[in-house]
Amino acid sequence: MALEYTLSIIKPDAVRKRLIGQIYSRFEKNALVVVIAKRVRLTREQAENFYNVHKERSFFPQLVAFMSSGPIMVQVLKAESAVSRNREIMGDTDPRRAKPGTLRADFATTIEENAVHGSDSIETAKKEIAFFFPEFSASCKDHPC
Ligand code: ATP
Ligand code: MG
Repeated sequence: MALEYTLSIIKPDAVRKRLIGQIYSRFEKNALVVVIAKRVRLTREQAENFYNVHKERSFFPQLVAFMSSGPIMVQVLKAESAVSRNREIMGDTDPRRAKPGTLRADFATTIEENAVHGSDSIETAKKEIAFFFPEFSASCKDHPC
């Protein structure tokens, strides 16, 4: 197992529901260390750029509108196998299919408003960390971000 970094977002629905503390508690219970974080509100253009990989999907306009609808909490998480560990505690994209005890099972409402985002691979994590925290990426010498 290798030490990894991954990008996590607490989405506008969960920030509105004041779930930042409970979600941070899940990170800490699962040995995911928050190493840098900020609360921001994305513009439409920033949301489009971040989810650019989904631009051809039918749900893209709604996804962009939702992600720019209110503040989000963005953090870099560090752990052994951080990418898969975070995806595991997040649960399935669709909260109806998410395993009990996962963030999406407990806190998400719908597949669109699903509480959290997590990078899906080490490569994606590098890009997503650089998107939100260029200064953190630039300072990485001894870790894979
Ligand atoms: P995320 O990238 O946000 O962590 P994910 O990797 O589980 O989620 P993706 O397939 O990357 O899922 O989809 C990105 C986001 O787009 C989802 O989190 C969800 O908000 C939205 N989305 C995905 N599939 C659908 C769908 N069928 N209908 C509506 N929205 C969807
Ligand atoms: Mg994804």
